[in-house]
Amino acid sequence: MSTELMQVNAMLNGQNFVAGEWRDGADWIEDINPSDVTDIVGRFAQAQPSDIHDAVAAAQGAQREWAAAGLESRAAVLDTIGRELMARSKELGELLSREEGKILAEGVGEVYRAGQFFTYFAAEALRNLGSSAESVRAGVDVLIEREPLGVVAIISPWNFPIATASWKIAPALAFGNAVVWKPASVTPASAWALTEIISRQAIPKGLFNLVMGSGSTIGRELAANADIQGLSFTGSGAVGSGIAALAATRFVKLQLEMGSKNPFVVMDDADLDRAVDLAVNGAFGGSGQKCTAASRMIVHRPVHDAFVEKLLAKTKALKVGHALEAGVQMGPVVSAGQLSANLDYVTLGKSEGAELATGGEALDLAHRGHYMAPAVFLNGRSLMRINQEEMFAPITCVLTAGDLDEAIFLANDTPYGLTAGIATRSLARATKFRRASRSGCVMVNLATAGTDYHVPFGGVRASSYGPREQGRAAVEFYTQAKTSYIHAGAAE
Ligand code: NDP
Repeated sequence: MSTELMQVNAMLNGQNFVAGEWRDGADWIEDINPSDVTDIVGRFAQAQPSDIHDAVAAAQGAQREWAAAGLESRAAVLDTIGRELMARSKELGELLSREEGKILAEGVGEVYRAGQFFTYFAAEALRNLGSSAESVRAGVDVLIEREPLGVVAIISPWNFPIATASWKIAPALAFGNAVVWKPASVTPASAWALTEIISRQAIPKGLFNLVMGSGSTIGRELAANADIQGLSFTGSGAVGSGIAALAATRFVKLQLEMGSKNPFVVMDDADLDRAVDLAVNGAFGGSGQKCTAASRMIVHRPVHDAFVEKLLAKTKALKVGHALEAGVQMGPVVSAGQLSANLDYVTLGKSEGAELATGGEALDLAHRGHYMAPAVFLNGRSLMRINQEEMFAPITCVLTAGDLDEAIFLANDTPYGLTAGIATRSLARATKFRRASRSGCVMVNLATAGTDYHVPFGGVRASSYGPREQGRAAVEFYTQAKTSYIHAGAAE
């Protein structure tokens, strides 16, 4: 363990941050390393409903002050947060990998990316330009400005514990909102570390609040609070729809990023070695626990056998182990509950008639953790549950397509639509796929996972609801338009 991480660890008795003060909880939970369950990352305070009440109340006052503070103050604060995240990406990435289980390079990359969200939105704060219009009435000018919503609730998942939160928190603050953040319960250390950085900035007391606690109590309490004006959520569809129902009764502005079932199509003219690399990266990066993971491989029949042979060889060769160990290519899954759900999906896939060609079993390694061998199913059919439901696991299933039209049909044949990839050397095929894909993001000769931070991100159908996240599109959710009509009259 590095000296820097030992210093972070020494502080890890993480409290909530409410109304500008660090607060103990009614209860505490332990944060356990999924690579080694004997390693306790820290103890974290659990908020109670009164903390939500206090956080939102303080946020309301602080938000008005923050919105009036001026563009340059907001930009400077965001820039400072971003630069600190980038400068400490190795140390905080190690902490993230330790509590979430993704390999170190992914943990470090995620923290660095989180920093980029802050520096990007620091600049966007300055670019919140309005517009003007000619009125249909003589002598009247029209101004269209974008104002903050007020207090925004953010509920985030564990799979990208710092990046997902950052792509919500940064634009919320950039455009003048206050934030109350409820992170996922299995990854509190990353949430606490980000909050610790934000708590040291020159911001109004109460502008930013961290309330850790279980989703079904504290998350629900936050979503039901009468004084939040916006709610941005990433997680499962089931929780998302419950939150939407709650928010709808109070007309709270909503943004939901939920499940996916991303296809990766391989055509017979693809560079097969590259296609296999992209497939493995998309399916097993982050132990398959990405909303952009490739959980369905749709392979053109002429190259099916050759692709499968290479895919199996590469999957079997993946080194699974402790997330912080050099040379490990896939860490554990996040929790015992997730591992057990994954193994249930493996049993289900077999019972549905798919052929398990490799992996799918729990692994007993030197460290006691939630390890499983990456799994590939063959001879799948589209309507099998393993090809319809988000598993969030290192499990992928190969389907066969006779031609591009069938590949497109299969790619679109789920309730979801987040990302979709195709490997082909044909511009015409790639273009047809891109146009026909019912998904929010299309990847041509790239893995289904892996996006930029300065362009819109989101899906269609059951994957997303509400305005897009990231890039300039974020202004749509975190602000509302005000249209002013001005009649100046005649000058004296
Ligand atoms: P959840 O949807 O349960 O959790 C996401 C966030 O919502 C967490 O902060 C959680 O808190 C909170 N939450 C849970 N219940 C409520 C509630 N009733 N009201 C308000 N907030 C709530 O996802 P999980 O993390 O449990 O993962 C389950 C599955 O969801 C995964 O296996 C995967 O299929 C999918 N998922 C998809 C993601 C995506 O990016 N598409 C991201 C994460 C998950 P707490 O952690 O305390 O439960």
